[in-house]
Order: sequence, then C-alpha cells, then structure tokens
Amino acid sequence: MRRISRRDFVKAVGLTSVAGAIGLPMISRSAGSTAQIVVVGGGYGGATAAKYLKRYVPNSDVVLIEKNTDYYSCVFSNEVLSGESSMESIKFTYEGLAKRTINVVHALATEIDPNKKQVKTSMGKAFNYDYCVLSPGVSFNWGVIEGYDEAAAEKMPHAWKAGPQTVLLRKQLESMKDGGVVMIVAPPNPYRCPAGPYERAAQIAHYLKYHKPRGKVIIMDSKHTFTKQTLFMDGYKKHYGDMIEWRSPVDGGKVIGVDVDAGTLITDSDEYKPAVANVIPPQRAGELALKVDLADDSGWCPVDQRTFESKKYDDIFVIGDAADAGEMGKSGYGASSHAKICAAAIAARITGIEQPEPSYLNTCYSLITPEHAISVAMVYKLNDKGTIVGVEGAGGTSPRYAPEWVREREANYARGWFKNMTSDAFG
Ligand SMILES: Cc1cc2nc3c(=O)[nH]c(=O)nc-3n(C[C@H](O)[C@H](O)[C@H](O)COP(=O)(O)OP(=O)(O)OC[C@H]3O[C@@H](n4cnc5c(N)ncnc54)[C@H](O)[C@@H]3O)c2cc1C
Repeated sequence: MRRISRRDFVKAVGLTSVAGAIGLPMISRSAGSTAQIVVVGGGYGGATAAKYLKRYVPNSDVVLIEKNTDYYSCVFSNEVLSGESSMESIKFTYEGLAKRTINVVHALATEIDPNKKQVKTSMGKAFNYDYCVLSPGVSFNWGVIEGYDEAAAEKMPHAWKAGPQTVLLRKQLESMKDGGVVMIVAPPNPYRCPAGPYERAAQIAHYLKYHKPRGKVIIMDSKHTFTKQTLFMDGYKKHYGDMIEWRSPVDGGKVIGVDVDAGTLITDSDEYKPAVANVIPPQRAGELALKVDLADDSGWCPVDQRTFESKKYDDIFVIGDAADAGEMGKSGYGASSHAKICAAAIAARITGIEQPEPSYLNTCYSLITPEHAISVAMVYKLNDKGTIVGVEGAGGTSPRYAPEWVREREANYARGWFKNMTSDAFG
C-alpha cells in the first residue's frame, strides 16, 4: 500500500486544514503547544515512549490512550506462577505518568484515521495528532491450533498477557493433584519473549518440587531449538532432575489441536490429557495495528527501523512487540529501547535537529530458581540496508560453566533490572 502523507491528502481535497470527525468531541492541541502526540498502548513500549516524548519535547501535548487502569507486567509473571512473586508485585499504575502532565486516557482506541490524523476511542472521543505512536503488543492467531480460541483459553490458559490469565493458570496449578503432568505448548517464532516458555517450565517445576514433588512438566514445542537452550537444559537438570522434559517436533512435540471438553492436546500421532494445559498460541501484532492495516502478510508491522515510522502511513510510529524490528527479539526491554529511539526521532522532527545515530539494546534474564538466573544481552545497530542487526562482540549469553555465585548474582541483577525498567516506564 502507498504511504499517504497529510500533505498529499490536504492537496487532494484542496483544504488547508483537516476538519475533525463529525459528531465526535475532538481533543486538539492546547495553547502554545508545539505538537500533539498520541500514544496508544501503555505497556513497556507505550508508557516509556509517552514519558520520553514529554521529556524531550516538554511543551508538546502527550496523550496516552490505554484501555486498562492498571498494567500487569508479563515480565516476572512466571514468578507469580511459582508463587515466588505476587500479582501486586507485577502491577503498575499510570499515576507517575499523569504527574508528568501526560494526559492518560483509559479507553480502547478503536480506530486510527491516517488521513484525518485522528485516533478514535470507545469513549466517543477523537484525538487529533501530529504524531501517533502505537505500541499495542501482540494478538493471538486463534484457530491455528485447531479448537484453540478465546473461549478455550478460559479452560486451557495461555497466560501470555498478564492479568486474569496468570491468576487462572496459578489456580489450576494449585488445584492439581501431586503426580499430575503440566504441559506447556510453546509457540512458533516469532513471538513475545523467546525465553518465556522455558523460564515458565522452570518456575512451574520450582512450585511442584516443593508442593507436588511427583509432578512433571512437559514442554511441547513446534520449534527444533530455542534460545539459551543449553543453559536452560543444564539448569533444569541441576535443580529439577528429570522433572522437566522438552519435546521438539521430532519427538512428537508439535501440538496441532486441542479438545477443550475432553481436556486433550492433539499431535499428529498422539493425544494427551495433562492435568494442566498451558497453551501459548502463535502470535501477531496487536489487533488495532491489524485493523488499521499497519501490518503486512507476516502479521507484524513493517517500519523504518531508524525511527519506527510505519512504512505504510506517515506520522504513525509502531514500536514494541508489534513492530518488525529486524534481529531484535520481542521483549519488554527491547520495547523500551524502541520507545526511546522513536521518541528521539519524533523530537528531532519537531525541533528540526538531526536524529542521532540510534543504538538499540536488549537484555533478557530468565530465572530457573530464585537464586539461579541466566541472561542474554545484545547491542544492535542499523546496517547499510536499514535493518537492525546485532553488533559483533557486543553481547552474548551467560557462560555455560559458571559457579553458582555467578547464577545468584544474575538473579539479583534480574530483580534490579526489573525495578529499573518498570520505574523507567511508569515512574
Ligand atoms: C511470560 C512472559 C515473560 C516475559 N518476560 C520478559 C522478560 O523477562 N524480559 C523482557 O524484556 N520481556 C519479557 N516478556 C515480554 C514483554 O512482556 C513484552 O515484550 C512487552 O510487554 C512488549 O511491550 P509492548 O509495549 O509491545 O506491549 P505490552 O506491554 O503488551 O503493552 C501493550 C498495551 O497496549 C494496550 N492496548 C492494546 N491495544 C489497545 C487499544 N486498542 N487501545 C488501548 N490500549 C490498547 C494493552 O492494554 C497493553 O497495556 C515476557 C512476556 C511473557 C508473556
């Protein structure tokens, strides 16, 4: 699809300004404001973007549209499943951003009109923008696993968006009898948090070890390999013996369907009836991005990876999990990095200065026990094709043969890293 700029549109209709939506109360810029910026989605990407936009361009109007009043972080939600963390500890409010004079609006953004440069909400209001930043996270490709839809997730939770789904999965683990099998269905690439299903297996095993020691965790995978695989497998063995089993597609791990009423998972050759089924479905960009046609056939949103501006529409920027960000995996820390680069690009455009050369970061910790963590970190840059690629030698994973104090130190780093990242976004 051709990118449509505001200038083209104005020329086409012969107007010097574009009127607001008829019949909708319109929120326009305040007196003296340099720019009206609307951020949709108040997760790691959107909250950080709103804060940094306000910081970089203090006299702009920044509106953050988020459907929920509290944000439950997926990061550290696996630790809620083990009972090591609480829902309260992963809950964040938007008070910090409101104090920074960001206009936080709790509503569902239902439409973005790239021509009128307007975001409409479920509350019947429309917000004009000069720049719109969208960080809607992911949505699920329901039905790719036959029989697995939104209703099925109420019985076989995915818990891949933190909140009621996390609580539901935790309850199922608590009600499970000792000796039961928990099956985790890991999704195909790309998906949010590549290490997440494998950290989850460890956290569930941690709970079982102390509460249901005859229990077992089986990871049913549609992938042949996964991130930090050796480190995970070593950690599983060390702390949980044979309690965790990983099955690749070659070992019959690919789940192709579910029968929710029977409580079964179906592969090409077998049918299993675990005590608890945690089905993480294939993913794509958040629904609003799909609705506004910001995604391509891959299901993710193509962007100029220097600025995160959509390749489809001018002045709309897509960050976080929803964006195609080259070699960067989909993570909270990555979303936060996108947010700052995108905010700097928009600020540069507003103030007329040149955008600095971006440097992107990602760090991901996985807790195998509360005292044993492993990590992967990477610095990224743009290559000459404009694609985000890893910088050789600037990153890597935890060493394989390391003494326990290294793993313990990484676990402490993980907790500090979480505190920093969340206060950067919401504080
Ligand atoms: C179990 C698990 C563990 C994880 N662990 C880690 C980790 O250790 N480290 C790490 O870096 N990452 C981790 N992640 C990944 C991380 O959670 C995501 O990558 C991150 O949340 C992406 O940020 P985002 O802004 O793109 O999306 P989100 O954080 O999901 O935010 C999207 C927001 O947009 C809102 N929204 C969506 N559509 C609309 C709309 N139309 N109107 C209004 N609001 C809307 C949603 O309510 C939500 O608040 C983990 C993920 C999972 C599932």
